[in-house]
Amino acid sequence: MFLRRILYMGLIFLVLGLAVLPLVGCIGVDEKDPGEKEGEGLSQEGLQIVTSFSILGDIVENITGERGRVDYLVPLGENPEDYELLSGELKMINDAHIFFVNGFGLEGMMEQAVKNVTDTPVVPLTQGMTPIPLVGDDAPDPHLWLDPLLVAGYVDNALASLIELDPEGEGVYRKNAEEYKVRLKELDNWIREEVKAIPPKNRYIIISENAFKYFGEAYGFQTEGIWELNSHEEGTPQQISRIVELVKEKEIPGLFVESTLDPRFMEAVSRETGVPIKAEVYSDALGKKGSGADTYKKMMRHNVEVLVKGLAR
Ligand SMILES: [Zn+2]
Repeated sequence: MFLRRILYMGLIFLVLGLAVLPLVGCIGVDEKDPGEKEGEGLSQEGLQIVTSFSILGDIVENITGERGRVDYLVPLGENPEDYELLSGELKMINDAHIFFVNGFGLEGMMEQAVKNVTDTPVVPLTQGMTPIPLVGDDAPDPHLWLDPLLVAGYVDNALASLIELDPEGEGVYRKNAEEYKVRLKELDNWIREEVKAIPPKNRYIIISENAFKYFGEAYGFQTEGIWELNSHEEGTPQQISRIVELVKEKEIPGLFVESTLDPRFMEAVSRETGVPIKAEVYSDALGKKGSGADTYKKMMRHNVEVLVKGLAR
């Protein structure tokens, strides 16, 4: 995926000349029959799949195996919530057979941009699942992927779409999906065992964006963010003093920061409370190659390891 991203950066420059076209019409969308996308070019290169961000890319790649090419859009250090697509990325989506997104509002800006310029199907992998609402808001929290058992739902949704696009691959996709779901279940069991080392009174995940609700729900943690969602207002003095009070009151032993966010807000909380930032966790992106968190499974294991280390005593 990584090499492909670099290749695509080149492509982006090539198509920059097309950048103004969306303003005046459909970018590169040929007049196509509705059914023409299905099966297009499958014999040579397999399915061309684009996902909104890296975590979905890894999940889907586990199902497609060698039968397709999976790319993702949001770079590893950035958040899907406020990401604006480049014109070359719109072209990538347009050239793909399918664009998988998370849904529940995560890709608000991307989805808007895409709908007007392409007939590539946009499929949310959380389709049919039940969200937890944001705190103080009716809107759903989109971070369902932080619970591995919910990722099994992502797998089922992706599987259905892949079979529809490439019926000949059904056997391969089903086998890969089943195997991946077994690994997700193993990951869930492993997490359950590991977190036992953290005393219940210390089971607080304090982080910049309150993205760990589904994880907390599954494994018995309270979670609090300085803010609720990255596309909302981030790091106001009121938000920071609220967390400072909470950390003092609950005598929370450790704070965490995300790989995709500016740590300065949590550093302010740390200074005011005297409670250390224990580690970096991955919520909205995989880690870079060599980080030990470059797949969904490794990223989750990393998160659990640092939570245990930071909160158990
Ligand atoms: Zn997020």
